[in-house]
Amino acid sequence: MIAEEMVVACCTDLAGKVRGKGFPASQFEKRMKRGVGWTPTNVQLTCFDTIGESPFGSLGDLVIIPDEGARVRVELGDLVPVEHFALSDIRHTDGRPWEFCTRSILKSALDRLNLVSGLTLFGAFEHEFQMRSAASLIGEAYTLNGFRLERRLAESVVAAMRTAGLEPDTFMKEFGAGQYEVTMGPSRGVAIADQSTILRELVRLVAGALGKEVTFTPIRDPAGVGNGVHIHLSFLNSEKPATWDPNGKHELTKTAGQFIAGILKYLDAIVAITAPSVVSYLRLTPHRWSAAFNNLGFRDREASVRICPVSDLSDISKAAQFNFEFRAADATASPHLQLAAIVHAGVQGIEEELPIPDATTEDLSLLDPSTLAARGHVRLPKSLPEALDHFVGNSTVTGWFPAGFADTYAKHKECEMAFLEGKPQQEICSLYERVY
Ligand code: GLU
Ligand code: MG
Repeated sequence: MIAEEMVVACCTDLAGKVRGKGFPASQFEKRMKRGVGWTPTNVQLTCFDTIGESPFGSLGDLVIIPDEGARVRVELGDLVPVEHFALSDIRHTDGRPWEFCTRSILKSALDRLNLVSGLTLFGAFEHEFQMRSAASLIGEAYTLNGFRLERRLAESVVAAMRTAGLEPDTFMKEFGAGQYEVTMGPSRGVAIADQSTILRELVRLVAGALGKEVTFTPIRDPAGVGNGVHIHLSFLNSEKPATWDPNGKHELTKTAGQFIAGILKYLDAIVAITAPSVVSYLRLTPHRWSAAFNNLGFRDREASVRICPVSDLSDISKAAQFNFEFRAADATASPHLQLAAIVHAGVQGIEEELPIPDATTEDLSLLDPSTLAARGHVRLPKSLPEALDHFVGNSTVTGWFPAGFADTYAKHKECEMAFLEGKPQQEICSLYERVY
């Protein structure tokens, strides 16, 4: 059959979906200038194809402008079409960034970081996912045999990552039934979120080509394990590592410590963005190695922010290895919005000159609320409605986003929740499993 290669200009949106429009690849140069038309109300498309109350109605026009620097073209082989897409910005027709363009929201958060601290963000998202079709084998956690079962997927994902400009790192059989984890090397600024988006799409692409289905849903079954997104972050100052201070508290530089303090202070209000689905809150519970409190952990996997280990054996300097990870995140969110919320909270912590937090060393779920409060800890919201109340109720946090964003975001999520109303928990889990 005859075919002409097409490229899709696309963006992550409020539903954490990647949406856009395709055009012949030969038009790329032109489309970089003139863009592709887009409709404002699309921002209220939920992950279940319902449309939330929109401030735009049927009015208005926008353009999606593909970014050459975030263009991905991967040839998997003769049996499947060439994959070709470019992450993009959404602009008003006069060229201004659109208020709901997740990439532009992230760019402005990163500009704020640079303005306040002179620092560049450096990092990578780590992803867990599960094979939907796999019969739940038992006894395969972290095994060679578990890896072997998906070796073809792993190797094709690694090859696709390299072609797309992502630095492959590790791939493993994770703990859960049919669960795998894939990690990659760090990048700078907006590319951190772009590469997370690209990685999710490449895993889906390769799995689809192999006749398999994967899911990045936060949790398939509350009796099983969760699929987390762990966002590893550090800072560069004029290209030099700027997170590690051997004499600092927890070996953090003062600015990095203030940044983490900001994340923890505002975590209850940003979790509606970093873990934004109904099932996110089935994962954010104690003893799942996810995150249930706003605590810092020194190498503790139950903490929402964990200072990661460094190794004396590595060929990479300690200063360059040193990073912390944000664990209260999952793949039902736009990576761009997640990172924007984290960066704004961190920068707020720098501006407020917050003290570097203590690291917890015990099981916080065993402490009573008054002991927790005395130590400055809160239990994170236990449901999406509670998380949204914390978000819309915190004017500092909503003030980081463009005018109207918080209200529209809440309406989007209300529509998503309305679709699930009255459905039993297992059906809700299975719906999210299908759409993510
Ligand atoms: N699956 C856990 C989560 O939901 C993380 C396990 C790990 O530390 O790798 O975040
Ligand atoms: Mg893991």
